[in-house]
Amino acid sequence: MKHPISVAIDGPSGAGKSTVAKALAAQFQLIYVDTGAIYRTVGLAAQRAGVGSKDAPAVIALLPGLSIDIAYDESGTQRMLLCGEDVSDAIRTPKSSIYASDVSAIPEVRAYLMDMQRSMAARHSVVMDGRDIGTVVLPDADVKVFLTASAEERARRRWLELKKRGTETPYDEVLRDIEYRDRQDSTRAAAPLRAAEDAVCIDSSDLSFSEAVEAVARLVREKLGE
Ligand code: C5P
Repeated sequence: MKHPISVAIDGPSGAGKSTVAKALAAQFQLIYVDTGAIYRTVGLAAQRAGVGSKDAPAVIALLPGLSIDIAYDESGTQRMLLCGEDVSDAIRTPKSSIYASDVSAIPEVRAYLMDMQRSMAARHSVVMDGRDIGTVVLPDADVKVFLTASAEERARRRWLELKKRGTETPYDEVLRDIEYRDRQDSTRAAAPLRAAEDAVCIDSSDLSFSEAVEAVARLVREKLGE
């Protein structure tokens, strides 16, 4: 087996990618890279600069002045730094989800973030989740998974997660946001959300958390020859 190894998990918002990826990271000693957080950080920068999320020229003009870093705290949790400030919580609001989805449709933004993502995978064994990891960022990933679930089930999970974080949001609003992002992420011209041809598709609608983790862990073990 070549080293470092890479596991790519793609799929729509709320399919359980990050929960599965975190569990896999712990099980196989991989570094978990949440690429959505990186797009969210660019979105937050635009939001703070008072730039419209769909104003591509203005968003592109911000890029050279941005300093975005990925750090890991002592528990191994990914933190996002924007010009040195830890913005890991600030990038989780419903508004920043929409901003992230909008700015991620801009090809220049995707190109700007490509090196950061690829260099993480070149230096470490990673499990990376996103929308285009298996198709564009790591086309040679050792394991590729496309994790999905129905929009209603994904909205229910996201609603619970927001509630736990203290960001109470009506279910209908969460479902609307999910449907907006699904539509936009899958129809955009730049790296649209789709399963790689060699990805294994897993529908987590009726799977428990541990069943979903086990389904992916089995693929990793097969690849590692364990
Ligand atoms: O994964 P998360 O929901 O945090 O991602 C926020 C947004 O960033 C997504 O709706 C998607 O538009 C965008 N994204 C992307 N490519 C990735 C990861 C996220 O376009 N690899």
